[in-house]
Amino acid sequence: MSKLSRRLSRQVMVGHVPVGGGAPVVVQSMTNTDTADAAATVQQVYELWQAGSELVRITVNSPEAAAQVATIRARLDAMGCPVPLVGDFHFNGHKLLSQYPDCAAALAKYRINPGNVGRGSKRDEQFATMIETAIRYGKPVRIGVNWGSLDQAMLARLMDENSRRAEPWPADAMMREALIQSALESAAKAEELGLPGDRICISCKVSDVQDLIRVYRELASRCDYPLHLGLTEAGMGSKGIVASTAALSVLLQEGIGDTIRVSLTPEPGEPRTKEVVVAQEILQTMGIRSFTPLVTACPGCGRTTSTFFQELAQKIQRYLREQMPVWRERYPGVETMNVAVMGCVVNGPGESKLANIGISLPGTGEVPVAPVYVDGEKTVTLKGEAIAEEFQQIVQRYVEENYGEGGVRRRDGRVIPLHIV
Ligand code: SF4
Repeated sequence: MSKLSRRLSRQVMVGHVPVGGGAPVVVQSMTNTDTADAAATVQQVYELWQAGSELVRITVNSPEAAAQVATIRARLDAMGCPVPLVGDFHFNGHKLLSQYPDCAAALAKYRINPGNVGRGSKRDEQFATMIETAIRYGKPVRIGVNWGSLDQAMLARLMDENSRRAEPWPADAMMREALIQSALESAAKAEELGLPGDRICISCKVSDVQDLIRVYRELASRCDYPLHLGLTEAGMGSKGIVASTAALSVLLQEGIGDTIRVSLTPEPGEPRTKEVVVAQEILQTMGIRSFTPLVTACPGCGRTTSTFFQELAQKIQRYLREQMPVWRERYPGVETMNVAVMGCVVNGPGESKLANIGISLPGTGEVPVAPVYVDGEKTVTLKGEAIAEEFQQIVQRYVEENYGEGGVRRRDGRVIPLHIV
């Protein structure tokens, strides 16, 4: 679907999921459960996978957590959930991976933060232990550097070198360079220890949009490892979504980024799966990948004094998302379908005609009827109390006829343009 050219990277297999090397940009997420609580973690990993997360990271921060990882893997497998699990390690990863071989074997990738591997003379030894475990179990790693936990010894060394320059770099440029060097030197060390280069992904996360863009542009030009993209501590609500979208979109547009995570702080009561939906919507609205049929809805105006059309748009989008776990298998291509829900018959029909299926609801003072357009043609006019249910049935029928076995979208191989407002 995407016509954007992508930065060429090596390909890393994380379990059965290819990352980089021309593979589709992978959506990933992370649990916020206590991994020692296997039941809660299994439940959340399953929900994230159902929402479309193709990799799920879990914290492995204690012996209790490490002891549960193989159980979590086994339970997910029994539930028919093959999503690869990535273990997030800090400070004690070398011990946990050595002492819990079942954990080391059950994980599909280890995330190693070079700033949190250990201090002083222990650092190299502990890093080596983790890399040797990855080699022994045939696993890839992510060298995941983070602004907030930058290797202080490296930063001090670079600052020292900088002070001897005729024209020293500004402090922010030095910080970015330290992030990049920390990632690249750690990756080089991992290769020296014997980990093949096609088993290394890299990330350098910061919380400022412009810094993230600068860091990844530079990183992309200096290595061919697949890059994990994400703005760290993006924040809550619309701020988190907007900041992540702004940063990731610029880089994705330049072909940079092989896997993405949107790090949102959930608002009370908000599902963890929101970060998966946002990541998918970034990729889909940019025309890079399709995941779920999108609903085009007008913003509403003085013509829509009732909330009926907003509720219908919401209901249809929820319905489409809920169907996707089944539709994905049964109706290939359905993820490119576009549905329009418009608030009046003034502008509604025009937009409806451009979508695969569109409905224009009656605005204030308009006749209480809702014309429906299918592939640009008006097919039926709905009225009465059950407009929402009847429209849902029309959508379901359209999907079966067009994307089911022998459906026209399969037969003629037409590419449905993704129309997004
Ligand atoms: S389509 Fe109609 S209701 Fe929606 S914003 Fe435009 S004029 Fe207003």
